[in-house]
Amino acid sequence: MTTDVEDLLAEIRNRGLYRRLRCVSGPQGPRVLLDGRPVLLLCSNNYLGLADHPRVREAAAEAAMRYGAGAGASRLVSGNMTIHRRLEERLAGFKGADACVLFGSGYLANMGAVAALARAGDVVFSDALNHASIIDGCRLARAETFVYDHRDSDHLEWGLSRAEGRGSLIVTDGVFSMDGDVAPLERIVELARRYDTRVMVDDAHGTGVLGPGGRGAVAAAGLEPEVDLIVGTLGKALGSYGAYICCDTEMAKYLINTARTLIFSTALPPPAVAAAAAALDLLQEQPRRVEKLQRNGALLREVLAANGVAVPAGDTPIVPLIVGGASDAVRASERALERGVFAQAIRPPTVPEGSSRLRLAVMASHTKSELREAARTLAAAVPAGAGEPAADRHGDPAAEPDRSRVFDGLRDAA
Ligand SMILES: *Cc1c(COP(=O)(O)O)cnc(C)c1O
Repeated sequence: MTTDVEDLLAEIRNRGLYRRLRCVSGPQGPRVLLDGRPVLLLCSNNYLGLADHPRVREAAAEAAMRYGAGAGASRLVSGNMTIHRRLEERLAGFKGADACVLFGSGYLANMGAVAALARAGDVVFSDALNHASIIDGCRLARAETFVYDHRDSDHLEWGLSRAEGRGSLIVTDGVFSMDGDVAPLERIVELARRYDTRVMVDDAHGTGVLGPGGRGAVAAAGLEPEVDLIVGTLGKALGSYGAYICCDTEMAKYLINTARTLIFSTALPPPAVAAAAAALDLLQEQPRRVEKLQRNGALLREVLAANGVAVPAGDTPIVPLIVGGASDAVRASERALERGVFAQAIRPPTVPEGSSRLRLAVMASHTKSELREAARTLAAAVPAGAGEPAADRHGDPAAEPDRSRVFDGLRDAA
């Protein structure tokens, strides 16, 4: 018999995992009107504050007038327009790649590319804290998945050495979305070369954030020519919506022929494409935005520490404030919100059980005094002892995955 949806919801509530939509009125800025109340926004990926930039808005409006609101079909039918091709050329140039393929979103790009590259009989190697869209790509693929411990290149090598040449792809977030730490890219690339495996890096949170001119985590490591596929989104630092994969020309053709999420989904709407192109212009004209973002990230870590909140060191605008239990994280978030700071609680399955957190994200458009004030508010809102690095909390040896099992299928992040 089918379980009542009401009962299913009750179960979610009992586990402290119930989610509801909050609503922002007006544009996305460093401060927003949330459910009718003005708050400091500290959990958006609009890192460079470009989503509501006048030039970005104008570009979207102009594209709507010139090209219309929608593309009307998938890119392989009749939806591919000059505006798509132009943005692909610009993004390839920005990332120093031969080619670039636009997708509907980062979710679709990851799902489509992983499934296209990990075929039956292959093994795909995936970091334990990779984004859900990569996990879902692994699920969609007919390959086996080996989930290596977070940033643990020894564990990765252990798996590769047992794959007997079946390894086809290593896939990792560049900057991990919920922890703000960076993948050991140099070591991954070295292992990929040794074991003749492709590398795909999801730079959703690196683009516009890290590296020279905001070119991303891969560029920061000087590894652009070594990484086979670099994924980026248009919806985060670039303030719009959509995503892209930079790669070589043959790979681009392969993705266009095999990535189901590109083939069976409508092309990006022209206003979204034009907005991203305008944001890319701004990023290239004003590299100071990236510097300001980096300074703001460092400042937030510093002022949190000064207020007695331990946060992990890092170079990204993502600062995890780990609380532990799901309900505790929600209560901390609500206390902060009462005092005018919006830092959404992030719970399983987005993060592992027992590591619920406030995932703070600074923007280039936050002022120093806003960040200082936010740190005081957050220090008062979170329980004592919060903010310890995730690694310390995962230190329980009993929680270590069993390394004697090789391809134990996908660890279910849900
Ligand atoms: C947000 C995110 C995505 C999904 O991108 P969308 O364009 O929002 O669908 C993919 N990967 C990572 C690491 C992300 O944080």
